[in-house]
Amino acid sequence: MLRSHLIKPLIGEYYPTIDYGKGIYLYDDSGQEYIDACSGAVTANLGHGMEDILQSIVQQGNKVAFVYRSQFSNQPAEDLAAFLYEKTGYAWSFFVNSGSEAVETAIKIAIQHWQEQGRSSKTRILSRWLSYHGITMGALSASGHPVRRERFDGHLGDWPTVEPPYCLRCPFGKVYPSCGLFCADQLDTMIRRIGADQIAAFVAEPVIGAAGGAIVPPKGYEKRIREICDHHDILYISDEVMTGCGRTGTFLTLEQSGVEADIVTIGKGLSAGYAPIAATLVSDRVMNPVLSGSKVVMSGHTFSGNPLSAAAALAVLKLIDKEDIISQVQSKGTYMRNLLEKLKGEFHFIEEVRGKGLLIGLEMVEGAGSPFTSLIVKKGIQNGILLYPAAAGIDGRSGSAIMIAPPLNSSKRDLEEICLRLKAALRESAAEWK
Ligand code: PLP
Repeated sequence: MLRSHLIKPLIGEYYPTIDYGKGIYLYDDSGQEYIDACSGAVTANLGHGMEDILQSIVQQGNKVAFVYRSQFSNQPAEDLAAFLYEKTGYAWSFFVNSGSEAVETAIKIAIQHWQEQGRSSKTRILSRWLSYHGITMGALSASGHPVRRERFDGHLGDWPTVEPPYCLRCPFGKVYPSCGLFCADQLDTMIRRIGADQIAAFVAEPVIGAAGGAIVPPKGYEKRIREICDHHDILYISDEVMTGCGRTGTFLTLEQSGVEADIVTIGKGLSAGYAPIAATLVSDRVMNPVLSGSKVVMSGHTFSGNPLSAAAALAVLKLIDKEDIISQVQSKGTYMRNLLEKLKGEFHFIEEVRGKGLLIGLEMVEGAGSPFTSLIVKKGIQNGILLYPAAAGIDGRSGSAIMIAPPLNSSKRDLEEICLRLKAALRESAAEWK
């Protein structure tokens, strides 16, 4: 085999090379087929090879592929921001290239919101353990993901402060609903200890993804968080990089709790993987001090608002609308979860099946550990199914969880095929684990 010069996640490990993708399938250069049961990194929301989307990118490229945001605006970026306003009610969009950058931008805007009002001490960002907000230093500082933090600890802010709403293994040993949402109230305690005058914002995912395996907070959690943030004059940032753009059955997941965040980050499904783009959505209330102050959001990247990426995202969102895809996500999710519950009956090492819409997690019994996750993922690949390995366990290290998050336009037959292949992978994993 020729030497590879590409730094891959695990250097020295063999990674198949994908030749092409069609629908929910990917094919490598040896002809092996994979069913994309996790949409890559919960990204390819429409599957692969969608001709209309590819054509939109080509058409834009034939006009202009790049303009610099400090010199020009461009129509696809303008149209995308207008589309997102109509969809979400957030009047302002800041486009970036990755979810990590969207979170960095959200943090900066939150700090600036207070600065512009002369409240410059409000700079700290609070967040939760068992969270993932991105790999860049600011977003990683806010991430309660021990494995991804540990090598860089000295360079990170000590931001995660509160425990996650992780009912399966409640960090407080309590049980919902008699707990009275003790985990949400912990935010109030932390704010009082640190001082609200030091804190700009609290950031959280509406469903804990990579750091927990689709953990859904108990009913009433987000409402309580909103009340606490309002009480202390702290902004609420909802990180919907994984959950946004229809993944859980509404455009934004927080809509389902009847709660509005002040700033929202989206990514992944925004272009469904057809081009790199993510966004920070900001309400008028948050932007107003900037508009009546410096008028400058001090952030931006060379490729921010790239016309090709914006054209791809617009085409994706319009297609999702035209085919009314989001309204079917919850029933497909329920169908899938029922199939997975049957697997749980067969494989007793599965402790919980959970999730929202088509973001579904399987957590294994305590003690299974991340090597078991890796084994399931490996057996999945051998059986032609791609699964997303998540961190799990109360320490964020010792647990074992996988996520199933197929393209939103998967058919029921696709979901059944996913379960068949998953079953084979689980059976072989169990046999090898003994
Ligand atoms: N925020 C959340 C909730 C995520 O799930 C992720 C990635 O998994 C990120 C931020 C970072 O996004 P990216 O990998 O595009 O930088």
